[in-house]
Amino acid sequence: MSDTPTGDEPRPELVPRFLGQGYLPEQVAARRQWIEEKTGASLGLVGAGGIPTELMRGNIENPIGTVQMPLGVAGPLLVRGEHADGAFYVPFATTEGALVRSYERGMVLLTRAGGVTTRVVTDENVVCPTFLFETVAEAAAFAGALPGHFPELRAAAESTTRHGRLLRVDARVSGRAVIVGFHYHTGDAQGMNMIVKATERAAAWLMAHAGATAYRTFSGMSSEKRASGYLMGGGKGKTVVAGARIPASLLEFYTRVTPRQLVALWHDVVIGHLQANTVGFNAHYANGLTAIFIACGQDVANVANASVGVTDFELLPGGDLHASVTLPSLTVATVGGGTLLGTSRECLSMLGCVGAGKALRFAEIVAASLLAGELSMAGAIGAGEFVEAHEAYGRNRPPQEP
Ligand code: NAP
Repeated sequence: MSDTPTGDEPRPELVPRFLGQGYLPEQVAARRQWIEEKTGASLGLVGAGGIPTELMRGNIENPIGTVQMPLGVAGPLLVRGEHADGAFYVPFATTEGALVRSYERGMVLLTRAGGVTTRVVTDENVVCPTFLFETVAEAAAFAGALPGHFPELRAAAESTTRHGRLLRVDARVSGRAVIVGFHYHTGDAQGMNMIVKATERAAAWLMAHAGATAYRTFSGMSSEKRASGYLMGGGKGKTVVAGARIPASLLEFYTRVTPRQLVALWHDVVIGHLQANTVGFNAHYANGLTAIFIACGQDVANVANASVGVTDFELLPGGDLHASVTLPSLTVATVGGGTLLGTSRECLSMLGCVGAGKALRFAEIVAASLLAGELSMAGAIGAGEFVEAHEAYGRNRPPQEP
C-alpha cells in the first residue's frame, strides 16, 4: 500500500466555525454537545465547572468547559522573607497521593525550626531574538554597537507597556548571527506576552537603524519552558533563595534521619545527577511547582524552566543541618495569564497573593514550599520509608477488570 496521499482519504471534521467562536454559556454548551455527539463521551462534569465562560476569553480557544483536580492544603509554613512574613497554608492541586502529606511534614519541620528565610535575588524576564547579517564582520560590529542604542531601544520597548521596564540588552555573536537578550522587569506579571510585544517594537527599531537583514523573534536561548544551563545564571523569571537551620533533634523527630545521614544521602544523589548530566540538582521541585502552579493559575509549562535549581544540605559545626534551595528561574505571577480565573484567584487569596504588588511574596512562599518538599523526600529516602509512604497514601487501587 502506498503512503502517498491521493486526496480521497476521509477527513475528520473540523469543529464547525460557528462553534469555534464565542464564550457565552450557550455557545460553550453547544460546542460541548457537538463533541459529545462526535465522540460518544459524556461530558457532564466538564460542563459543571464554576468559572464564568465569558472570563475564559484570552485564556483558551474553543472552550467546552473546565477540568477539575483534587485540591489539598499543606501547612503551616513559617516564612521569614522580605515580601512574605508569617505562617502560610499552601494549596496543592495534584493526583499524586502522599505528595501533600510529604510537603506538609517538611513545612511543619521548618516551622518548628524557626521558619524559612527567603530572598528574591533578581526579578526579571528575558526574550532573546536572533538578528541575521551578511558577514561575520557585520554581526560583530552590530554586537559592539548595541550598548550605544540602549536609550532608543528602551524608548521603543516601553512605548508598548505601562508596567514593563527594559533593564539592559546583551549580545552573543554566533557566526553571522547575533542573539540579543532583552532583559525586563515585568512587575507582577509573568510577562511573556508583555515583553515579546515590547521586544518586537525594539527589534523593529534595530532593523531600521542597525543594518540587520532579518530577525527571528525567538532564538531558543532564553529557555522559556525548557531546561538549560542558561537558566542557572538567572534572568528568566525570579531568582529566589530559601534556607533554614534545622536542629538535629527536630530533624530526627520528624524524619527519623540525622543531619549526617541526610548529607551523606545528598552526596550520593548528587553523583547520580552528575552521571545523568542533569542541569542543577534537586529531588523534586517539579512536584511542588506543578501542584501549586495548577492551583494558583500559573502557566504550568513554565515548570520546565522553574524546576531547574540547586538543593543544598550542609552539616553545621555542632551537628545541626543547613538546608537551602536556589531557584534561578522561578516564573510566577499574581497578575495576568490565568491568575485571576475562578479557583486560581481563590487559591492565591489563601496566600494573600491576589493582584498587584504580590508577585514577590508569592515567589518567596513557593521557594519555601519547595524547600519543605526537598527535606521531606530526602528524609523518606534516608529513613527507608519512601515506598511505605506511597503504599500508605499514594495508591488508589483501581478495580480489576473482570
Ligand atoms: P498578560 O495577561 O498577557 O498581560 C499582563 C498585563 O497586565 C501586562 O502586560 C500589564 O499591562 C498588565 N498589568 C496590570 N497590572 C500589572 C502589574 N501590577 N504588573 C504587571 N503587569 C500589570 O500576561 P503576561 O504576563 O504578559 O504573559 C503571561 C502569559 O503569556 C501566560 O499566560 C502565558 O501563557 C503566555 N505566554 C506567552 C508567550 C508569548 O510568546 N507571547 C510565551 C509563553 C507564554 P501593560 O503591559 O500595559 O503594563
